[in-house]
Amino acid sequence: MSLKKVLRLRHTLAFQLTIWYAGMFAFSSFAAFLAFYLAAASVTHRHTDQALMSEVEEYSSLLSLKGIETLKTALMLESESEGANKMFFRIVTLNNEELFSSNMSSWGDLGTSRIALERLKNGANRVFETLIIPEHQYEIRILYDIISPGKVLQIGESLEDNARLLGVFRNIFCAIMAVLIVLGTLIGWFIARRALVGVEEVTRTAMDISKGVFERRVSVKAGGDEIDRLATAFNVMLDRIDVLVIGMREMADDMAHDLRSPITRIRGIAEMTLTTNKSMDDYRTMAANTIEECDRLLEMVNTVLDISEAEAGTSKLIMEKIDIAGVVRDACELFQPTAADRNVTLIFRPSDTDNSFVRGDIQQIQRMVVNLLDNALKYTPSGGRVIASVNSDEGQAFISVSDTGIGISDHDLPNIFKRFYRCDQSRSQVGIGLGLSLARAIAKAHGGNITATSYPAKGSKFTVTLPQFSLSQ
Ligand code: ADP
Repeated sequence: MSLKKVLRLRHTLAFQLTIWYAGMFAFSSFAAFLAFYLAAASVTHRHTDQALMSEVEEYSSLLSLKGIETLKTALMLESESEGANKMFFRIVTLNNEELFSSNMSSWGDLGTSRIALERLKNGANRVFETLIIPEHQYEIRILYDIISPGKVLQIGESLEDNARLLGVFRNIFCAIMAVLIVLGTLIGWFIARRALVGVEEVTRTAMDISKGVFERRVSVKAGGDEIDRLATAFNVMLDRIDVLVIGMREMADDMAHDLRSPITRIRGIAEMTLTTNKSMDDYRTMAANTIEECDRLLEMVNTVLDISEAEAGTSKLIMEKIDIAGVVRDACELFQPTAADRNVTLIFRPSDTDNSFVRGDIQQIQRMVVNLLDNALKYTPSGGRVIASVNSDEGQAFISVSDTGIGISDHDLPNIFKRFYRCDQSRSQVGIGLGLSLARAIAKAHGGNITATSYPAKGSKFTVTLPQFSLSQ
């Protein structure tokens, strides 16, 4: 592995998780060892003190039974058998006059502690002290105890054996720690890699998609863990983006297609104005036609923008309590002249329950109702009938616009809410194929929807569902 790769590895989550894992592992093993080591050290020290105390007891009874000379011999023998550099004995008076001492050649000028003797004088049972002297590598544990009135026995023992035992213990631990840290690091690395392999796949997929492989998806295992859920959510998001991108592409195509005709017409008019000699009235007519075409274009562009805003939830809705029965009634009144022109009967059937209030933006709701009525009248031949009604049920308000018009085929029905979609049989009518898209986007922006049922040559029924007004909204 090159140095660059290793340095880059430092910034990976897997590396950081491994370090954390190995660190925690090492820290907890070290803490466990420390507790164990301190316990072992305390046990060995206590054991040494116990041994020293029982020796004092033994020599105290020897003194009372056999006298001082026997005690001195016993102490001399004991010091030699233990090793003169491992243990020493000294008998002193409470005023620190030495009565006896074993071979002290390896203990330097180690004497008796005045403080210890003072404490014994003041009534202490026994006094322990731990010393370090230059002649000895290891600590020395010393016990002062009164063995008969006025006589103090000082026993000193090198703690070499304890230190060696604890040293062995330390060495074993260091070896075990080294193995554990290596093992912990390997296990940590393995676990981190295993946990992050799914994240890496998501990253790889995102990179592939950014390079243009849009159909790439993350493979999801059956486990259902967090990574699988991330992968599933990621795939769902990609599918959704796919649909949006396709929708946008289709919309751009449709728009380009629908813009071409009016632009061509405007160009034709302009060309005619330049190339032919016409009267002033003709020029006026051409200018009026140009304005009309431009208005159509503007309307198309504005409607597309309105649909996008409504779908994205970014349109500024002025929400208020609206009586939709009133809105539909007013719209029907507005359309009566058009209906009369087309010889179509337009009927408004108000709500039976009189509870058709919704919370919404009145202008947007009016726009939606107008689009539905306009379509119904546009696609209903002379002599037909259009009925607009309002109802409510179980917290929902319904607006229905039904007609006895040309109807919509099963093939066209699922597409009529798409932008720019126009059924073949309705191309003779004026329209740009955006009215229903806008109506549905408005209904959805108000928490509702629009559905359609239709029978070709018999008629259609469009039903808007909106949540009824409630004070908690
Ligand atoms: P347009 O401007 O063409 O009316 P819309 O989006 O309002 O656009 O409607 C889309 C298409 O749905 C229309 O072109 C027409 O073919 C069909 N359509 C809508 N309303 C009706 C209706 N009431 N009766 C029959 N066809 C309809």
